[in-house]
Amino acid sequence: MEFNDLKAQLVLISDSVNDRINAVLAHGNYIMGPEIAELEKKLADYVDAKHCITCASGTDGLMLALMAQGVGPGDAIFTTPFTFIATAEIIAVLGATPVFVDIEPATFNIDPGKLSEAIKNLKNGKLPTGNCKQALTPKGIIPVDIFGLPADYDAINAIAREVGLFVLEDAAQSFGATYKGKKACGLAPIGVTSFFPAKPLGCYGDGGAIFTNCDSSAECLRSLRVHGKGADKYDNIRIGINGRMDTLQAAILLAKMEIFPDEVKKRKAIAGRYVQALKGAFGVQEEPQGYESVWAQFSIVAEKRDVLMAQLKERGIPTAIYYPKPLHLQKAFEYLGYAAGDLPVSELLSRRIFSVPMHPYLDENAQKSIIPLLKAAF
Ligand SMILES: *Cc1c(COP(=O)(O)O)cnc(C)c1O
Repeated sequence: MEFNDLKAQLVLISDSVNDRINAVLAHGNYIMGPEIAELEKKLADYVDAKHCITCASGTDGLMLALMAQGVGPGDAIFTTPFTFIATAEIIAVLGATPVFVDIEPATFNIDPGKLSEAIKNLKNGKLPTGNCKQALTPKGIIPVDIFGLPADYDAINAIAREVGLFVLEDAAQSFGATYKGKKACGLAPIGVTSFFPAKPLGCYGDGGAIFTNCDSSAECLRSLRVHGKGADKYDNIRIGINGRMDTLQAAILLAKMEIFPDEVKKRKAIAGRYVQALKGAFGVQEEPQGYESVWAQFSIVAEKRDVLMAQLKERGIPTAIYYPKPLHLQKAFEYLGYAAGDLPVSELLSRRIFSVPMHPYLDENAQKSIIPLLKAAF
């Protein structure tokens, strides 16, 4: 059994993928070829955003979004410690300081009440700020839609407006999810997703995209992703990076978009069966009213995680731990000065969580072999 079966998907789309790849080989525009604009239009329509700016990875997308906001040394960016390192890494790469805010136990996403508190506590000098000598200026918030479930954007956007912070939605795992009728990637003024192969919409390498309704941000982002270009690429008006998506990856994503809406439906059905069978016995991520996760992962919270994972492994069922260590306790962020116990909900979850196979082609029979094993172990 596969944890994420990309081969089953390829069987369905291989003609379309081959045609798309051959079209790129025929025209030869490997950098910023016509598939880039075609994909940007398709993705913007899907998300219902005015602009889509594709880029080389989700990490680059997050960094470009922060660069467009002018983030740098002395700035504080509030985010969750229960995420992939990229979310917080790019804050530090730009010389700014991540401020970690604990998560809600039910959704695993940043807790809006604790976010408000953290913004106040930073002003009072009550939070770890690492080796930054000056007082930090609160600048922005990066909520993460963890495992495909959107964070609470009504609450987060309201807090941000009140205190004048920007919100950047890390939708790397949630392309295809919805929140109160709106699509993920469009739930904050800027949203970023990733097309890493294992994400709900993945390419065959690295890729990402940024979404916004703001014309001036979009123009700035298009410049930043090509070395800060002005009128052309040899006119450089700001410091940028090489952050473009490859034309070949755009071509592959265009083929995958044909089946993506159907895959989202399949993911929801599979997750529904897991929830139905397992809730009560285990902790599972809760979808609040009005939220629809795209279920990038299906996670289980169990006190005896190691025992369960070993039993599943014995029977050929792969599992994985997302995430074994919250970011505030990672060595890379030791300099910030956090201690164990500072963010207890994230810490407890990191000790108990693990994920089971989850992809659109997980058939009912395979699922039927996983569920009784878990229940028996419980
Ligand atoms: C995957 C991921 C990223 C980074 O995306 P890449 O395309 O791998 O650079 C950022 N944030 C989160 C939450 C992710 O899961």
